[in-house]
Amino acid sequence: MSKAYVTEILSVGTELLLGHVTNTDARDIAEQLSKIGVDVRYQTVVGDNPQRLRDCVEIAKSRADIIITTGGLGPTCDDLTKQILAECFGLKLVKNEAEYAGLYDYFNVKKNFTPNNFLQAYLPEGCTVFHNNCGTAPGCAFEAQGKVVVMLPGPPKECNAMFRESAIPYLRRFSDGLIVSHTLNIFGLGESTVDQMFRDEMNAMRNPSMAPYAKECDCLLKVTAKAGTAEEAEDMLRPAIAEIRGKLGDIVYGMDVDCIEEAVMQLLRDRPLTFAAAESCTGGDIARRFTELPGASAFFLGGVVSYTNGVKAGVLGIDPALIEEKSAVSYEVAKAMAERVRQLTGADVGLGVTGLAGPDGDGVHEVGTVFISLSDGERTWVREAHMGAQRTRSYVRRMAGNYAFDMLRRYMTGLDVLG
Ligand code: ATP
Repeated sequence: MSKAYVTEILSVGTELLLGHVTNTDARDIAEQLSKIGVDVRYQTVVGDNPQRLRDCVEIAKSRADIIITTGGLGPTCDDLTKQILAECFGLKLVKNEAEYAGLYDYFNVKKNFTPNNFLQAYLPEGCTVFHNNCGTAPGCAFEAQGKVVVMLPGPPKECNAMFRESAIPYLRRFSDGLIVSHTLNIFGLGESTVDQMFRDEMNAMRNPSMAPYAKECDCLLKVTAKAGTAEEAEDMLRPAIAEIRGKLGDIVYGMDVDCIEEAVMQLLRDRPLTFAAAESCTGGDIARRFTELPGASAFFLGGVVSYTNGVKAGVLGIDPALIEEKSAVSYEVAKAMAERVRQLTGADVGLGVTGLAGPDGDGVHEVGTVFISLSDGERTWVREAHMGAQRTRSYVRRMAGNYAFDMLRRYMTGLDVLG
């Protein structure tokens, strides 16, 4: 089909407007729709108020071909979506015998029905009914006045299941292709630098297209292609991704991975080695992050949270005079941390992190100064990073861990460990 159908997601619920509940339904629906090539252009949130909902439906009708609502299908008096949508499209609500019988059985078994529960079985005349396999409120879809309307329940479990099982098959025919995306994970460059590097390509590219975006401490470059089949889309993506990788070089640490430790885990499966970590400012975060991944025990032996100088000296065995002379946040102490934790645990590689996560400084270093080290018994590398005094404590801690994982990745792939 050649027409690109414009889609609007209309989420109904005062709790969403007030920020009590995050609108995960719209996020999940938009993500799934993009994969089947349905173009979401607008997302609207409106409270449980009939007039405001009517207004939003009229706006959606004026700019979208497909309107997908979430929420407000239940039995309570603030559940108005079906009534208002039917009214806006000039349709009556009629009793659906199958849903009515299903509700009767359900509530009879549970013996706690109230008459308003049966309102859920009244649906717009002529609609396609979406049975709710996870709850009681059915959803539905209809075409009227040149528009397509899909109504889904609010609770995410119900919404997601119904969307997957019923709405996606229904909506497929309104897709003019299929969308495939790959995300390149980048370490060491910010979103704006990547944007600058690829500005010309991004302006020129239509299909595939690419866009950088940032997660906390992570820069991602998403490359997307739309085609008739997944294979065609992949064929279009391959050369584009190779070109981008060529331009970015070894700062691309992975593709379609959630975090840098996941990329490290993938590498370790092919080139196994064991490692341990001595952590000061990260407080065990490197150990926590890595051990969240299944299979971590094959590679991660353990670590020492050497937060105080006493533990750096007493447990790791670092010379107190060295700590005194150089300070806990120093090249020398970081170096000793990686070396000592490697020796203590018998790991192939030791990692060390010591720094100032802030907000208070130590009077010597700027907040955000972190030394990250890697030792393999023959050599020790130490990186000095300055994240910036304006950075939050959580940013500095997470980024310090990213540096450590990135050094390990670079070590394993034979790259210059310090980049
Ligand atoms: P129910 O039968 O449970 O009443 P419903 O379709 O009427 O279903 P709502 O009453 O609008 O749904 O919402 C029920 C609950 O579902 C909300 O309190 C909220 O916790 C969750 N919810 C609703 N909409 C969303 C949304 N867009 N994203 C995430 N959660 C939502």
